[in-house]
Amino acid sequence: MKSYQHILLAVDFMPGVEQICQRAKQLAECCDARLSIIHVVEPMIMAPPYEGMPSLPVDFEDQMLDSARDSLRQLVEKEGLEEANWTVEIGAVKWTIIEHAEQWQADLIVIGSHGRHGLSRLLGSTANAVLHSAPCDVLAVHVENP
Ligand code: AMP
Repeated sequence: MKSYQHILLAVDFMPGVEQICQRAKQLAECCDARLSIIHVVEPMIMAPPYEGMPSLPVDFEDQMLDSARDSLRQLVEKEGLEEANWTVEIGAVKWTIIEHAEQWQADLIVIGSHGRHGLSRLLGSTANAVLHSAPCDVLAVHVENP
């Protein structure tokens, strides 16, 4: 059986993200696989403001993208992932991860699982959502009490 060749790591900036990064890095090294990293910014819905509510600045989305890029750049440096390609995209988190896995022909998606219980488990997390539509294997890294 062939080992993984292209691993797609999906990150948010929640506590415990380091554990997910290190697992993906370790796997990429073990398999001699390429590593790509994605963070998705969800678009703001530009509904007309209600009375008394300030409207969002026109370039708000650009500002969010810029600050997400800064955060991801810092995470990549902190976790020693400089050899990976990384990107920040705008869209629905689940579909954007799936689309990129398809486009980049990733054969493994690495994602965090925060092991939450109750309602959020019933409704499904991002990991759950990705797992059900992924074109490839998915590794849900269990994040220990960050
Ligand atoms: P959640 O279901 O929100 O607890 O997220 C579980 C995992 O999904 C995170 O640990 C990340 O691996 C991934 N994820 C969540 N949000 C994003 C995002 N905006 N961009 C990329 N990956 C994400």
